[in-house]
Amino acid sequence: MQLKRINKEKVCRCEPKCEKFIRIERDDSVIRLCEQDAKSHAYDILETLGYIQRKQIRNVKPWTSKQEQVLIKWAEKGFQFGDMRVIGDLLGKTREQVKKKVVHMRKLGLIPKSEKSNSYR
Ligand SMILES: [Zn+2]
Repeated sequence: MQLKRINKEKVCRCEPKCEKFIRIERDDSVIRLCEQDAKSHAYDILETLGYIQRKQIRNVKPWTSKQEQVLIKWAEKGFQFGDMRVIGDLLGKTREQVKKKVVHMRKLGLIPKSEKSNSYR
């Protein structure tokens, strides 16, 4: 496995755009992460290993109807890969919180069950 720091990759959907990127080469697969993605994954790993506990500092405020509207609007055009994190960043929630909320809102029928992309994350 090779971990490289590279300067330019078009894998970033953050606003503002990240300037740093990481490229992981392993066997015949290549993973590219922008700075924000890398950070988010790094935190996920550290949390999984028990080094940090983000739950304690997480935003546990209830969802506002404005935030729910954002999800409903977003669902209309369909969720794409990476959208959950982008939405989370926009709304001050974690990706997990957004995912859970979407599942919940689907159950309530606020978000249609069938959408353009099911492979959202
Ligand atoms: Zn980025």
